[in-house]
Amino acid sequence: MAVRRKTRRVNVGGVGIGGDAPVALQSMTSTYTYEIDKTIDQIQRLARAGADLVRVAVPDRRDTEALPHILAASPVPLVADVHFHFERAMEAIEAGIHKIRLNPGNIQDRAKVQRVIAACKERGIPIRVGVNEGGIVERKDKSRRAEEKATLESNYRGNLIRIMLDKLDEYLRIFDEADFHDVVISAKSIDPTIVIDAYTEISRRYDYPLHLGVTHAGPPETGRIRSVTALGALLANGIGDTIRISYAADPIHEIEDGKELLCCLGLRPRTEPELIACPTCGRIEVDLFKLVTDVRQKLAAEISLPIKVAVMGCVVNGPGECEGADVAIFAGNRKGIIYVQGQQRQTVPEDRMLDALLEECRALQDAVQRGEATLTNAHVDVKPPDPLPRRDGSVPLTVAGSARR
Ligand code: SF4
Repeated sequence: MAVRRKTRRVNVGGVGIGGDAPVALQSMTSTYTYEIDKTIDQIQRLARAGADLVRVAVPDRRDTEALPHILAASPVPLVADVHFHFERAMEAIEAGIHKIRLNPGNIQDRAKVQRVIAACKERGIPIRVGVNEGGIVERKDKSRRAEEKATLESNYRGNLIRIMLDKLDEYLRIFDEADFHDVVISAKSIDPTIVIDAYTEISRRYDYPLHLGVTHAGPPETGRIRSVTALGALLANGIGDTIRISYAADPIHEIEDGKELLCCLGLRPRTEPELIACPTCGRIEVDLFKLVTDVRQKLAAEISLPIKVAVMGCVVNGPGECEGADVAIFAGNRKGIIYVQGQQRQTVPEDRMLDALLEECRALQDAVQRGEATLTNAHVDVKPPDPLPRRDGSVPLTVAGSARR
């Protein structure tokens, strides 16, 4: 892991983005925002699952009128997603929204953009500026649109990133002129490799915090790999201050997967049980897949501490691969041998494996809560290595300072 690139810090209703703030996890509601109860319910579910921020779309006046009720019931700061109507931005600001997502290219009248910026500046509300692939080509100016489309046809990948960077520079000049610096940048694409290259280049040019995402990634089955490829590579290289994994599905999956990604990279402490399991092979002698499924469900329902649990299929590699697990079972010959923090505790028949494993997990949880035991993974102290060099040989920033050049 590279040392995290130092960016400016913005404050979104008490949640920091950038600087030394932890990488913030966010999602977006899929409800009509004006359906107040459904929207509040979804925000609360997302917050319980681990969302630090939630974005809501406000395409209609009914949506901004609902914001005061939704904001009052939301356990996390909210972001208003504004596209073409600057009035919605002004209404959301008036309602007390914590952040605005705005694409200045979608609001043709520069004076209107400046009014939004002035209103946000007055109230300390950050603005995310997006130069995402889906909306990057000029919509209204026909000759500029034709020129950009022709440019993309000649070299889609290279020229897309160039257009994104040119527009970002153009937009940021508007914010610079207003002396407004509570800016977060996004540059999403459908292609993970474009996402990696675009954000890497942006991180060289600006020190604004970055909102990472892959746009239109699809359902979790296809979007998961696409998103984790891009976001994992960037985060591992120290780039990224807030993430949204976006799926064509219940947004709860976005938070579940985003949280797991951050935990895997050591960017978020694990707060729930962690399950590791062997993939099984020809040595297996029990129905391990069923045991793993059952253990996963039971852990989620009954264990609230980040206990690391290992479920292994045999004794060949079981003990070695269970090393580091708080509670481990390795099966064989229709039996399971259970270890707790490296100590062998009991050997049980196959039909007792699930219950016995859960008993040990509950006992360990109780002991930790009484202060009589600690979890092994709570003591892992990983010293970050030197930053990974980028492709061109340059090294990511490790100290505060303007990265803009
Ligand atoms: S733990 Fe045993 S059963 Fe599982 S993959 Fe390894 S060798 Fe195969």
